[in-house]
Amino acid sequence: MPLMDVEYQLPLDAKGACATRHAWARVPPEPAPAERAALKERIRGLLKQKNAVMVSHFYVHPDLQDLAEETGGLVSDSLEMARFGRDHAARTLVVSGVRFMGETARILSPGKTVLMPALEATCSLDLGCPADAFSAFCDQHPERTVVVYANTSAAVKARADWVVTSGCALDIVRALHADGQKILWAPDRHLGAYIQRETGADLLAWQGACIVHDEFKAFELEALMREHPHARVLVHPESPAEVVALAHAVGSTSAILQAARDMQASEFIVATDMGLLHRLRTLLPHKRFIEAPTAGNSATCKSCAHCPWMAMNGLAGLAEVLESGRNAVEVEPGLIPRARQPIERMLAFTAALRSGASTAGLVPQLGAA
Ligand code: SF4
Repeated sequence: MPLMDVEYQLPLDAKGACATRHAWARVPPEPAPAERAALKERIRGLLKQKNAVMVSHFYVHPDLQDLAEETGGLVSDSLEMARFGRDHAARTLVVSGVRFMGETARILSPGKTVLMPALEATCSLDLGCPADAFSAFCDQHPERTVVVYANTSAAVKARADWVVTSGCALDIVRALHADGQKILWAPDRHLGAYIQRETGADLLAWQGACIVHDEFKAFELEALMREHPHARVLVHPESPAEVVALAHAVGSTSAILQAARDMQASEFIVATDMGLLHRLRTLLPHKRFIEAPTAGNSATCKSCAHCPWMAMNGLAGLAEVLESGRNAVEVEPGLIPRARQPIERMLAFTAALRSGASTAGLVPQLGAA
């Protein structure tokens, strides 16, 4: 697995979330084939024994994606992970991803145990948006509706009117804009700028970034496109604007999957975490997927788009937490009711959109409250 040695400069947080260098150091070694098979077998048994279900993000190790699917769990983006965990009957959710995903599951399912193979796995967007500073920012702009990306702490969500994922951000902000609301957006600056461009909303953005998507390079991507003139380019909107401008389709991980399914092309260049490439190649084996470049010719690694925190999740850690019950996700009880409200609002909005029902009554005036 190629390593991207980027030290994330913000200080560690109180919960012990680790910076990128420390995260890479904790990436579990690849198990040998016999060990991998034994671990999978042990996990299958433990899932049944503990009445547990796996919920894995598209960016985690292929083993954790395949096992989730094979055992009746879910492999998806953070929007569907939240919905699936809330609605599933299992008493224990095992979330393979990063901490905000485990926290969201805990907030939505207070009666369930939520376990994570790597509890310290965080996200540069979450680290880059401390709740106190963000709350002060909101206080300076009380006339704005606060919309935060799911990649934030429970405390930041508790300060928000809406939580969104990249799968529904455009629809929700478009509805708020149509309702005449001004937006305070956090934390991803590229996604915020993309939403602003697409919707025309009056949007004031926090300036965070995803350390993975921020690395994609437009100049290098153009060179790769010249090498593959028939390839279609699929880009996640956490990428810089110059990269988004080169895309044939822009969207969340689920939208990228859908675009690859729907487009006639047989070759695609994909600008998102390389974890999604496993899913794309599994579902569409007759198509070719190429990783978008994150570095120039002189670099040792041309495409290092992999999240160090997602990489901390592994089979051995998952088996261990299922067996011991360690690594249970906790959220400060006082935050849960307030943080749940904007997440439930998002789930209700997206459920209405999906069913074709009206979303008009789901957009209350909140910003000035
Ligand atoms: S890929 Fe980016 S947005 Fe996703 S968890 Fe990692 S740092 Fe956060």
